Amino acid sequence: MQLHSVKIYSLHINCGGEEVYINKTKYEHDLDGKCSSTYYKDGNWAFSNTGHFVDYQRDSSPYILSNTSNLHDISTHDSELYTTARGSAISLTYYGLCLMEGNYTVKLHFAEIVLTQYNSSNILGKRVFDVYLQEDLWLKDFDIAKEAGGVGRAVIKTCSIHVKNNTLKIRLYWAGKGTTNIPYRGCYGPIISAISVDADFKPPRFGKKTNVGLTVGLIGGVILFLCLDFWIWKKCCFRYRRDDILAGKGHRHLLGDIRVFKFSEIKAATSNFKSSNKRGEGGFGSVYEGKLKDGTIVAIKQLSSRSKQGREEFIDEISMISSMNHVNLVRLVGFCDHKRPCVVYEYMRYNSLSQALSDKGAKGRLTWPVRVQICMGVAQGLFYLHEGSNVQIIHRDIKPSNILLDENFIPKISDFGIAKQNENRKSDHTINIKGTRAYMAPEYATRGCLTPLADVYSFGLVALELVSGKPVRQSFADDPNISVFDKAHVLKDMKGDLLELVDRDLGNEYSPEEALRIINVAILCMGSCPPPPQTNHA
Ligand code: ATP
Ligand code: MG
Repeated sequence: MQLHSVKIYSLHINCGGEEVYINKTKYEHDLDGKCSSTYYKDGNWAFSNTGHFVDYQRDSSPYILSNTSNLHDISTHDSELYTTARGSAISLTYYGLCLMEGNYTVKLHFAEIVLTQYNSSNILGKRVFDVYLQEDLWLKDFDIAKEAGGVGRAVIKTCSIHVKNNTLKIRLYWAGKGTTNIPYRGCYGPIISAISVDADFKPPRFGKKTNVGLTVGLIGGVILFLCLDFWIWKKCCFRYRRDDILAGKGHRHLLGDIRVFKFSEIKAATSNFKSSNKRGEGGFGSVYEGKLKDGTIVAIKQLSSRSKQGREEFIDEISMISSMNHVNLVRLVGFCDHKRPCVVYEYMRYNSLSQALSDKGAKGRLTWPVRVQICMGVAQGLFYLHEGSNVQIIHRDIKPSNILLDENFIPKISDFGIAKQNENRKSDHTINIKGTRAYMAPEYATRGCLTPLADVYSFGLVALELVSGKPVRQSFADDPNISVFDKAHVLKDMKGDLLELVDRDLGNEYSPEEALRIINVAILCMGSCPPPPQTNHA
């Protein structure tokens, strides 16, 4: 190994890819080592890759990965960085060599570009690994898709680190967690898209510069400083305003990276709430498709003046969504605190599940694998709400119009405005009843008894609706006296053929085993009402 004697103060690598320039910064190519081996590059950096994918069952190399499609929300200026990645079966270590001693900012660029390529079952796949800087554990159980808010999305992790002995060590280590066989056998281990390392200190100058150069540099520096000051001042104003809005409700801690829009921006995005941009209307107001200045397409929900949702619920909804981050929950982009408040969400290309099921053209796209994917995604989103974050959230209004579908038919649960944090289980049954009756668990509808099982019950109805292709309270054409819901119970009790429930539009294009499993799970969910709670007001 031949090392450069000249010290460097920055390092940029396009892992698993060609050399690229991003904002005039050169990211070095990193295409060598298509098999599991230790490899040192002849330059200022090196890597070592250990572990064999013993169970690997595909033709392409699992060590150099690429995907040029299915990348979402990745800004165009640096998208090249995310189209490739380097993978490892166990441990992948990058070494920055010859770095000057001092403090550096390390940025690791990640995007889950493997699981995105497989449509129906990919959402079950979970890649989990640990990241060490020098010898210290930095990111434990790191899950790219979870951090980025979905597969095919970029996430950059930033850290400051002191470099001694001219060496920086970045180690990604598969800790044996996550899935190993989804979407194909041997799919696991850490992956990384790019690395950037920049000195926090001013690098010493080599060689003399002219006085003109120095003067220009100084003036430039002063201008830059003033611009930076102005930018920080603007950011602070913005932040205080956002905090002011939410502080009154004590939600400051729940803030995520959400934007506050001016009403004029909302008007411009929706062409002044043009009716052709309207995508639907619910109990709280109308939903419009909008285009932001930067070209992003969003869904804008404007609360109607006669809305049942007050400002309080509006703020609740914002705080609630901003604190939640899961691929199966709709992502909040921002809000507008106008007298007609608006909430801005990521736009869902295929609208809602209820729309997809009721529209003949759209229903054709709901093939069996897509329906299974939706069912699994909703279950995972609900599991996250109930068990996956610090607070337990009971949604209270799980129904097909609150299941939105993105361009890959990945389901996203929406409408947390009426959700409730389950802080005190003892007093659950004393809460106000909110939601949609047709999908409500009986114990909740009649007695206001609220536990996560209320959502489980509604999920059962949604699952049944997915299999049967029609609203569960709707009857069959050849038997108008019995609804899907009743028929499911009758068939179960009489040990009849549950496959009679399957949507006839699917013909034979479905898996009977999967259909039976889903129907049985749905029936179990609907039978999951707990006994009436003991009255025990603590
Ligand atoms: P409820 O008020 O009981 O929730 P709802 O779900 O039908 O009823 P909204 O949540 O206001 O009402 O949504 C209205 C419609 O707007 C939805 O059915 C869906 O078709 C569409 N919609 C909502 N959010 C989005 C989104 N993020 N992207 C695309 N379409 C959306
Ligand atoms: Mg809704």
